[in-house]
Amino acid sequence: MSELRELYQELILDHSKKPRNFRVLEKATHKSEGYNPLCGDRITVYLQIEGDTIRDVGFQGSGCAISKASTSMMTDHLKGKTKTEAQKLFKNFHNMLTAEGGAEADKDLLGKLAVFSGVSEFPVRVKCATLPWHTLRAGLEGSAQTVSTESFSTEWTAG
Ligand code: ZN
Repeated sequence: MSELRELYQELILDHSKKPRNFRVLEKATHKSEGYNPLCGDRITVYLQIEGDTIRDVGFQGSGCAISKASTSMMTDHLKGKTKTEAQKLFKNFHNMLTAEGGAEADKDLLGKLAVFSGVSEFPVRVKCATLPWHTLRAGLEGSAQTVSTESFSTEWTAG
């Protein structure tokens, strides 16, 4: 357990200090903004989608280590995935952190993203970790508004 905790801290620290894909995507086809007023995290997620496949992902923003690391790891994970796969990842990530209705998360599917399971012990931080995913969903749905952690729904309506 302590080993897992160390890995979790190491990965999160690494990604928060050196965020991957921290750039504006020139060829972005989708852009969305997310805001977590409880912590002050603000992010913009850029997606380059061709057909049904996410070709490239970038992000900009500022916030705490958890939100930055979560966004960084999400962008790494999404490249080459289809919209349906992204939806599946969102659901499993969300289940892992909130376990709403006792839903199970597929940790094999989540891969390295499973390090965020430790965050579920800190309810305030759950919103920091899920912010990029809600922002992603808004981007895929093409909603132009800024999404806020205080108005998220857990339903995914993107086709
Ligand atoms: Zn935060």
